Amino acid sequence: MSAKIIDGKAYAEGLATKIQTQVVAFKAQSGRVPGLAVVLVGQDPASEIYVRSKVKKTTELGMKSFEHVLPDTATQEELLRVVAELNANNEIDGILVQMPLPKQIDELTVISAISPAKDVDGLHPENAGRLVAGLPCFVSCTPLGCLMLLKDQLGDLTGMNAIVIGRSLLVGKPMAQLLLNENCTVTMAHSRTRDLADKVRQADIVVAAVGKAEMVKAAWVKPGATVIDVGTTRVVVDGKKKLVGDVDFAAVQAVAGALTPVPGGVGPMTIMTLMHNTVIAAYRRQGLPVPKMF
Ligand code: NAP
Repeated sequence: MSAKIIDGKAYAEGLATKIQTQVVAFKAQSGRVPGLAVVLVGQDPASEIYVRSKVKKTTELGMKSFEHVLPDTATQEELLRVVAELNANNEIDGILVQMPLPKQIDELTVISAISPAKDVDGLHPENAGRLVAGLPCFVSCTPLGCLMLLKDQLGDLTGMNAIVIGRSLLVGKPMAQLLLNENCTVTMAHSRTRDLADKVRQADIVVAAVGKAEMVKAAWVKPGATVIDVGTTRVVVDGKKKLVGDVDFAAVQAVAGALTPVPGGVGPMTIMTLMHNTVIAAYRRQGLPVPKMF
């Protein structure tokens, strides 16, 4: 058996088309386009690349992009002032402060200062709480993208056994909550979990969000399971830089029913779900019926 490769890039392109349609419809109804503000503090090279690609995608999809760059010496008060200005700007529907932040700034304080109505990254405690309560909210982009791929692949997830490996606020916790909301029976695993391989073997759905190259082995995976690989680790193989996931892709491919590659699986979904959340924020803030795009 060879698993189906879940093409995150193709799914993200399809979602982009739906987003563009909704941007046009939003402009027709409101007289403006959705706006996304991205704030970068410092010069972390990876963060600069992420911000650049978010700005590019926002404008490509017909939305308005606002970019704010602060020096890495910026104080928390300076950043909070920028966030307050963005909260008050009616042209802006979504605010994303690129993490990580320099050490003099407390990330949770900054996230908590973003208006929950503009928190398109879904990290504000109010949105995290609303997800648990099953209320409309913004969901962190990466787990939302994983859920879209799972539903596209499997349809109704009701009754399935799912395991999420990793319990971060950004990925693992919201992923587990999303799967629970879809009526899965969810196991959350982390660095202190005992007998991880045995627990993974029970799962119809495996989401690996750890950051340890090729940790999930073929012998751990139930035949036919759907495997979503969130992890990204840069390694050097034969002198060449390579990005690898948390899953031993070549070996697991022979056992799983379907799995995402790295790169080309979850990665392209993360940026597109940010665009999705920005459009949703615009409709909500404008008091218009919110379109369903997946
Ligand atoms: P994180 O905050 O470092 O969390 C990692 C989680 O993995 C923690 O909960 C940790 O457990 C758990 N863990 C560590 N070692 C483990 C082990 N041996 N067995 C089981 N669990 C273990 O990372 P993150 O932000 O969630 O990101 C996870 C990975 O996804 C990273 O590789 C990141 O680069 C990638 N990522 C990719 C995208 C994308 O768009 N493709 C987006 C976001 C993240 P404890 O809580 O017990 O320490």
